[in-house]
Amino acid sequence: MLLTLKGMAIFSRSSAFARVTAIAAQRPVHAAFAWMHNNPKTLIDLQTELVAIPAPPFGEQARSEWAAARFKEIGLDRVQVDAIGNVLGFVPAADLPADSTGHLIVVSAHIDTVFPAGTPLKAVLSREDGANRLAAPGVCDNAAGVIGMLALAQALIHAKVKLPVPILMLANVGEEGEGDLRGVRHFYEERALAGRVAAHIVLDGAGADAAVAQALGSRRFQITVRGPGGHSFTDSGTPNPIVALANAVATLARTPVPEKPTTTLNIGTVQGGTSVNSVPESASASVDFRSTSADELLRLEVALHRAVEDAVEQTNAAARYSNHRNRGVVTFTIDKIGDRPAAQLAADSPILEALRAVDRHLGIQTDLRLGSTDANIPIALGIPALSMGAGGDGSGAHTLAEWFTDKDREIGLRRVMLLTLTLAEWAAEQ
Ligand SMILES: [Zn+2]
Repeated sequence: MLLTLKGMAIFSRSSAFARVTAIAAQRPVHAAFAWMHNNPKTLIDLQTELVAIPAPPFGEQARSEWAAARFKEIGLDRVQVDAIGNVLGFVPAADLPADSTGHLIVVSAHIDTVFPAGTPLKAVLSREDGANRLAAPGVCDNAAGVIGMLALAQALIHAKVKLPVPILMLANVGEEGEGDLRGVRHFYEERALAGRVAAHIVLDGAGADAAVAQALGSRRFQITVRGPGGHSFTDSGTPNPIVALANAVATLARTPVPEKPTTTLNIGTVQGGTSVNSVPESASASVDFRSTSADELLRLEVALHRAVEDAVEQTNAAARYSNHRNRGVVTFTIDKIGDRPAAQLAADSPILEALRAVDRHLGIQTDLRLGSTDANIPIALGIPALSMGAGGDGSGAHTLAEWFTDKDREIGLRRVMLLTLTLAEWAAEQ
C-alpha cells in the first residue's frame, strides 16, 4: 500500500525541539502541569470508578455513559455519543468559532476490555513506593489511557491553555479482539469530522517510554468444511470434513513467511466431529495472519484459499474413487472474522518528529514498537498517528492479575500534553 503522509518533514529536529521548549515555558502550560501534579488522587479515584464498570466487547454502553458524564463534568464542548457508542467532546480552540471546519487533533482511548460479562472487577488499592497501586482487570488496558485522556482535557480546560486548533477527545468502543477496531473505524467513516484530523494520538495502557508507530496488520479467518456425514462403518468412504480441513491446515502451516517485513501465521482453533464412530458433518478452524505489509497479508489470504480449495477437491476426488455409494461431497466456506490494516509511519512523519522533540525535552528515550492498535486505522489512511502509554506503570494486561501504579504518571501525562500541543501548533500552520 502506498501512503501519502501529510506535511512530511514539518520541522527540522532543532526547530521541533525549540518549539516544544517554547510551549513548555508558557504560563498556562505550567498551570496545566501543576493541575496534573496536584491531582494524583483524583485520577486514581476516577480510575477505580472506571474499572468497576464492565465493558466486554460489544457491551460498552455503561462505560460510554460514564465517559459522556465525565466529559460534561470537565466542561468539554459538544459532548455526543455516536451510533455505536463512541463518546466525543471538544476542547475548543482559543480564537476560532465553535463551528469552524479546520484542522483538529484527535486524542483517543478505547473503553472496552477483553473481559467477559460477569468478571469480578473491583479494584484493590494499596500504597507502594510512595505511589498508589491499583489491582483490577483492565486497570492499565485501558483505564490508564482513558484516565490520561480525562486528565489532559481537565488540565487544559482548568489552566485555560490557548489552543490554536480544537482537540477532539474520543472515548471509543471496540478496540479489543473481535471488536476489530470498530470504534475508530466508525469514527473515520464519518467523513465530516474525519476529513479534519491533522494528527491522532491513541492513549493505550501505562508507560512513558514507548510508542507504537508501525501498524501491524492482521487478518483472521474462520474456515468451515461441511459434508454429508454418516456412520463410520456403513457410510465408510463418505468424504470427511476433518480430513479435508487437516490437509488444508497442514498445507497452510508450511507456507513460508518472511522475517522482514515481519509476518506471522497462526492456526488458533480447530473444532469438529460428532463422535469417534461417525463420519463428521463439519469441521472448522480459525487462523490469524499478521504483518506490517499489506502485500504479505494478501499473499497469505490467497495461500489460505488455495490450500482449502485443493484439500477439499482432493478429499472429494478420493471419495469418488473409493466409494460406489457416493453420498455427496464436502464443501467449504472461508469467513473473514478480523481485518486490521497494515501500514507504517514514515521515519520523518511530523508526529514522530514531535514525539522525539518532546522526549528529548523530558529526558525520555522512546522505544518505537510494532503493534496492532486503534492507530492502525488513521495510519493506514495516511494520517500521522501513533499509540502511546498514558504514564504510570503496570503489567498483566488481558489477565485477572492486571495492576497499575501511578508512580511517574505525571511525566507520562506531560509527555502526552506536550505532544498534543506541539501537533496543534503544527496543524494550525497546515
Ligand atoms: Zn488496549
